[in-house]
Parts: sequence; C-alpha cells; structure tokens
Amino acid sequence: MMSRPPSACFEWSGGLVYRFCPSSDVDVQSTAMEHANTTHSVRSRSVEPVTVIGGGLAGSEAAWQLAERGIPVTLFEMRPGKQSPAHHSGSLAELVCSNSFKSDDPITAAGELKRELEYLGSMLLQVARICAVPAGGALAVDREVFARTVTEHIENHPLVDVVRREMRELPEGRVIIATGPLSSDGIEPVLGNLVGAARLAFFDAAAPIVEASSIDRELAFSASRYGKGGSDDYINCPMDREQYDRFIAELLTARRVHSKDFERRELFSACQPVEEIARSGHDALRFGPLKPVGLTDPRTANRPWAVVQLRAENLSCTAYNLVGFQTNLAFSEQERVFRLIPGLEHAEFARLGVMHRNTFIDSPRLLDASLRLRSLPRVRVAGQLAGTEGYLEAVGSGLLAGLGAAAEIMGMEPFVMPELSAFGALMAYATSPLTSGYQPMHVNWGIIEPLPQRVKGKRERYAAYAQRALQATGEAIATHPMTAGSRTAAGSLDPMSSGVDSSNPGSR
Ligand SMILES: Cc1cc2nc3c(=O)[nH]c(=O)nc-3n(C[C@H](O)[C@H](O)[C@H](O)COP(=O)(O)OP(=O)(O)OC[C@H]3O[C@@H](n4cnc5c(N)ncnc54)[C@H](O)[C@@H]3O)c2cc1C
Repeated sequence: MMSRPPSACFEWSGGLVYRFCPSSDVDVQSTAMEHANTTHSVRSRSVEPVTVIGGGLAGSEAAWQLAERGIPVTLFEMRPGKQSPAHHSGSLAELVCSNSFKSDDPITAAGELKRELEYLGSMLLQVARICAVPAGGALAVDREVFARTVTEHIENHPLVDVVRREMRELPEGRVIIATGPLSSDGIEPVLGNLVGAARLAFFDAAAPIVEASSIDRELAFSASRYGKGGSDDYINCPMDREQYDRFIAELLTARRVHSKDFERRELFSACQPVEEIARSGHDALRFGPLKPVGLTDPRTANRPWAVVQLRAENLSCTAYNLVGFQTNLAFSEQERVFRLIPGLEHAEFARLGVMHRNTFIDSPRLLDASLRLRSLPRVRVAGQLAGTEGYLEAVGSGLLAGLGAAAEIMGMEPFVMPELSAFGALMAYATSPLTSGYQPMHVNWGIIEPLPQRVKGKRERYAAYAQRALQATGEAIATHPMTAGSRTAAGSLDPMSSGVDSSNPGSR
C-alpha cells in the first residue's frame, strides 16, 4: 500500500491552490488515482511497456504519469549499485543539493510553474507539498521524506517495474531518457550515437541574463562595435576608470561557489569565469570581454574606459545576457557585484550565471515540442539532460514526456504546453530551432512573450504574466482529450489571491 503523508496534507481548493489542512486524512495515492480516473487511461496490460531510463526527478514523474494512465513502465535506475558523483542514496528522486523548489509566490515564474504542474497533476509536486518544511515564501522539503515517499509510490505502483541497473544500450520500443546532468559514462556513447558528439555538452557555463525592462537606458546605449552588424545589436554599459577599478575590486573579493572536485577538473580547463580572468591582471577584462574599442558613448562622445556588452537572448528582445560573464560567484554576490555595472543598478536577473558539470543535449536542434528526438521519435529526452535547469523544471519535462508518450499510445495529438504559460515559454525556448548558443535555462518571465499592453510596476507586471499563463494552461488542459475533464482544470485564476509574500523569491 502507498504511504500516508507524514502529519499533514493539502487538499485541492478550487482545483488550483493547495490549502493547508493539518488533520486531513487524504493521501497522495488516492488523490492521484482520483485524478487519473477523471482523465483518459488505457488500463490495459496488453500495451507495450515504455522504458524510462533514470529514476530522478524527471524519470519518476514520467513513469508515474504513464502508469496512472494504465501504461506499463519499466524504469531503469543505476543507484544504489552505481552512484553519480552527487547522489548518495538508492532513493528515486533524490535532491542532489538544496532542498528548495524555489519561490511559491504565484506571481513569480517559479511559483507559476508550481500552479501549472499542480494543474497537470504532478505527483512529485504533490509529495513536495506534503513534505514541506518552513521556508518563508519558498517551497522547501524534507529531502529524505520526499525521496522516500516518491520511491514508495513508484515502487508500489502495480504498473511500474523498477529495475536497478545502469543502462548502457538503447532498448527497443518507446523510451524516455532522463539520466540527468550527471548521466553515467555507460550511457554517454548511447547519447553520442543518438544525437552526435557535437550536440552533447558535459558542462554548463552560463552567463547571467537580465530582463530588458530593468536596464537603465539613460546610461546604457545601443551600438555594435565599429558599427558592424545591426546598429542596435548590443546594449552597452560604459564604465569610467573609477567605476572599472571599483568593479574589479569587488569582483576579486566576492564570494565564490566551491565547486565539487569532479567539477573543478573539467570546468575551468574549458571556460574561464569572469572573476578568473580578472584575477590574471587588473586590466585583463578591459583587454578582454570588457574592451571598449569601436564604441563611442553618445553621452560623452568619447570611448569609455571599459564596456560591458549585453546581447539579446530571445527574438522579442525581452532578455539580454552579459557577454563573456560566465561566472562561479555565489548567486547573491552576482546580484551585488553586477549591479555595480552602470545601467544595471536595478537589474532584474532572469537567470544567474552557473558553471557546473552538466550533461545536456542541444535541444533546440534535436527535440520537438513534445520532447521527441526529431531523428528518432520513439525516443524522448526529459529532465536536465533535455536542457532545462532546476528541480521543478526537471519534474515538468518528465511530466510532459510522460503525457506525450501516453497521448501517442492513445492515438492522440501530443499534449504541448502553451507558449504563454511559464513552462510552455521555457519549452518553446528550449526546443525552438531559432534558439542559438543554447545553455540550460530555468523558468523566468524574461523569456515569455511580452504583454500586449504596458503594465507599470514589477509586481503588477509579473501578476499579469502569471494570470495569462494560468489562463493559457487551463485552456490547454481543457481542450486536450487526455486532460479534458480533469478536475484540476477548474478554479480561480487570480494569482494575486494567495497572499503569499513575494519578498523572498526563493533560491537554491
Ligand atoms: C551538483 C548539482 C547540484 C544541483 N543543485 C540544484 C539545486 O540545488 N536546485 C535545483 O533546482 N537544481 C539543482 N541542480 C540541477 C537539476 O535540477 C538537478 O540536477 C535535477 O536533479 C535534475 O533532474 P533529472 O531528473 O534531470 O536528473 P536526476 O535527478 O539527476 O536523475 C537522473 C537519474 O538517472 C540515473 N542514471 C544516470 N545514468 C544512468 C544510467 N545509465 N542508467 C540508469 N540510471 C542512470 C541517476 O542515478 C539519477 O537517479 C543541480 C545539478 C547538479 C549537477
């Protein structure tokens, strides 16, 4: 039998927002089964099992979604026989680092993602709610209870066969590969054969991204070096000598993330963090990524002492990355130090820089919106391997891969998240062939289509994004035959109504 939640649980309120109910006797299994009973399911053992490789966050959610629709699953997990460098247990869905699923504020992109996953009936999110520990405005969990509960649910599901073995070959039939950022060396050749060595990356060195609307355009100016290309190709943040000196001093003393040994070995030989370049000499950045040559500040009509260039991250130019700013600084330090850059004093960061070991594929060139390999559609890729970043994003893509495979087996169109939803925007970004230089991304409002009208005030703007996203999600769920009729597709669509404090956006 399935386990009961530890001491408290949540129940659906209007199908959208969980309300805490300390003494309720609802358990995850019965709630989820109820959900499954309101949606389509195959409920036949004659269906060929789907193979899921990797019992992490994505693989566990994918397996559950399939099994709940009556589709048998064989789930291969290499642990505990073989551990990754960051996992320590034999539990499925082990959280390898922080125990936080980030902000639960419904107007943040992370908070909206939670509502969308709740709408879609995510089992892992439901377990996370049950295992929640006090964390201000964030959703954080007791990691052991979380992983143990997910493991029990999966292992006890009558349609899931969990096989504890490292997969080193591609099985026949429908397959979901979710072996994560630390995919084993045994599966690497399989991935290489499937996608080509040039489309497989082993580390992530991403520069921060800022929301365009938060850049001070009184200080920053549009221009490309020597006027080459489009004149507006870059936004340039000019520094005078004093500003540069202060920036370098703060950069050199800022707190850094201590990489694990296995990361240090591979990472820095391949890509120099901006703070490492600064360490090699006071003017190193001024002669490197911050070189001012070919640029004239229209306010002074002079060449600045140094220039930080920002390049558009998406076609709608709502987000810009800091060119050459791969960094290993702690997140809070990135915000502090990078806001010293003229024009970025009030920058809102859509993503902060990361540098860590991370196996991922070039999704924009390889995957369709249903996470199928374009070259071999019987194979789906999910989780961080498919190019998202973050625990819940992995859960989301596992859910989508599971729903996609289930829809296919049921002879339906794949379920695809609408681009106006938080998760749909991320999926569109990650699987659009127009995305270039892809680095894994977490959900954020910087990559979503701008609002049709200008909304003043950050909180109001975010609320408008969230409102629109939830509406789009509800409509997509209501119109797809596999999810239509689900009781999760009803309810209030007012993201401001939960009253959760947004002052703590939640972080890793
Ligand atoms: C060191 C590190 C720290 C991170 N910290 C955070 C954080 O604090 N917060 C956050 O939001 N995100 C974090 N991430 C990013 C990411 O969200 C998590 O890694 C997340 O667990 C990804 O989910 P997943 O399902 O794709 O992979 P995983 O959860 O890693 O699951 C993959 C599973 O596949 C198994 N596996 C691998 N190869 C094979 C094989 N050949 N055969 C069978 N099984 C196999 C693994 O044992 C594992 O159980 C971190 C990533 C790394 C690498």
